[in-house]
Amino acid sequence: SQKAKDAVLIPRYVRVNTHRTTMDKVIQSFKKEKYKYVDQAPDDLRELPANSYCRDPHLDDLLVFTPKTDLHNHPLYIAGDIILQDKASCFPAHVCRPPKDAHAIDACAAPGNKTSHLSALMQNTGRIWAFDLDARRLELLKRMTGKAGCKNISPVHGSFLEVDPTDPQYAKVEYFLLDPSCSGSGIVSRLDHLVDGDEADNTVDERLKNLSDFQISVIQHAFKFPNAKRVVYSTCSIHAQENEQVVRTVLADNPDFTLAPRESVLPTWQRRGLRSEFNGSDQDAEAVVRTDPAHDLTNGFFVACFVRSSNTVSTTT
Ligand code: SAM
Repeated sequence: SQKAKDAVLIPRYVRVNTHRTTMDKVIQSFKKEKYKYVDQAPDDLRELPANSYCRDPHLDDLLVFTPKTDLHNHPLYIAGDIILQDKASCFPAHVCRPPKDAHAIDACAAPGNKTSHLSALMQNTGRIWAFDLDARRLELLKRMTGKAGCKNISPVHGSFLEVDPTDPQYAKVEYFLLDPSCSGSGIVSRLDHLVDGDEADNTVDERLKNLSDFQISVIQHAFKFPNAKRVVYSTCSIHAQENEQVVRTVLADNPDFTLAPRESVLPTWQRRGLRSEFNGSDQDAEAVVRTDPAHDLTNGFFVACFVRSSNTVSTTT
């Protein structure tokens, strides 16, 4: 089917792990192999020739290889110098971008790709508490972030919803990355199943309702931390119920928080939120990011960034 073909067409994105190496070193290293470096990324990444690679036009720590390039046995991957991560899932850490020495919370962190990305952007300074409810997945996070050379992560097993926001140890936490469980409907290899619909509509609706209730509670909990100032919410879902509708509900309930303006939320990314879901507020729709698997050569994804109202001028880029 077309959707299955889309899956094969997604480029191989390679995040350079700046804890262990640099973009230049990785570019040089691949040049010594069969891969050809293309200086200027083509406007349409599908035009990247076979066995070539280029820098991603949006993210400064990402390389793009052609689809099906298999790097799972590559020495740079085995060493932890590169991380194989879809482009869209690199968005949340970039949008959050805590400065050096910041305190941050990754609320639903395992297996930890976004945690290690945050850690790299913070240059291994400050502190990141990484919570996850699933002990086995948290062990994986410890292994992966250890291999990546992260030294500023404190993994904690348990529900983020049970964490006491007034605990003095979190007094300086300003940055939150919230990537809670979602339907996963944006993951390209799962789209066939969803489109073909082997679940009854009411089962799907109920599942989405349960998920969005959970997603809302995670965001509301982050807002209770006294110094929360930049709260990034993401899903790998294409459903408005888990995306724009969650944002709208949370904004209506929390006048202290607004959406960070487009200027600090991947401004060069063209696909923004669904206007129809924001009652015609172009500003709110523009403030959030969507990716469309059919057009953007990534999985389907959504990112929103809340800031405390008194703080809306704070940008991180
Ligand atoms: N951010 C991760 C990454 O980039 O590697 C992926 C996170 S995954 C979408 C959602 C995670 O939330 C799962 O690992 C799940 O175990 C965890 N989770 C679910 N409920 C939770 C809760 N109440 N508190 C903390 N983590 C929870």
